[in-house]
Amino acid sequence: MDQRVGIGFDVHPLTAGRQLILGGIEIPYERGLAGHSDADALLHAIADALLGALALGDIGQHFPDSDPQYKDISSSILLEKTYELVRQEGYELNNLDCIILLEKPRIAPYIEKMQKHISDIFWCKVNQISIKATTTERLGFIGREDGAAALAVAMLRERKGK
Ligand SMILES: [Zn+2]
Repeated sequence: MDQRVGIGFDVHPLTAGRQLILGGIEIPYERGLAGHSDADALLHAIADALLGALALGDIGQHFPDSDPQYKDISSSILLEKTYELVRQEGYELNNLDCIILLEKPRIAPYIEKMQKHISDIFWCKVNQISIKATTTERLGFIGREDGAAALAVAMLRERKGK
């Protein structure tokens, strides 16, 4: 069976007056991520990993910042659209492994919810979606709480009976 692997990485600044959304889940906090869409760095990294696995460019090309229809859009919708593309190409998700890099707040209590939300987008089992969270030990822009980053690796497999 043909398999493909892709990697995604994304960063957004933390700013006051925005809702913090990661992995499609609203996390109560005094600041949120800034961006054209809802700035969900985890879902953006996942979408880039999917596109990367099929050498289809990146989400900036598919959903440009300059396009007003994507302003404040839920990144869950962008990820759904990206996955439609993957399926059209004859592939489906085998598994995802992700890391969220954020100093504060603690992400651990929300990981199960994120896994459930993301597995619904991919119509897959929760155990195909791995999400880990780490700080950077107060080092760098993440350690200074200036922003958050996310990394994702996606493995795709050829769809049966496509
Ligand atoms: Zn992004």
